[in-house]
Amino acid sequence: MKWPSWLTPKSRRHAPPPAPEPSLTACPDCGREMDRIEKSTMSGYDMRTYRCEPCGKEHIVNFGSALWKVLSDARGADEKGERQNG
Ligand SMILES: [Zn+2]
Repeated sequence: MKWPSWLTPKSRRHAPPPAPEPSLTACPDCGREMDRIEKSTMSGYDMRTYRCEPCGKEHIVNFGSALWKVLSDARGADEKGERQNG
């Protein structure tokens, strides 16, 4: 099968570059990297407070499940009969 000329990889070299990964620690207002001032995993989530000096604002960033929560859940699953070599 012969592809139409506009479908060949060569014709796609002008595709725009992929967008840069959005940084969790970048200020949503000005895009600058913020300074971490606090970290809390009490709720089971890795919540960190960042401060943007130029904006004078603080932003709470959720990094997902806290490490202790992940480990706790994994241990719980293990005790529910996942053991093979009991
Ligand atoms: Zn900012």
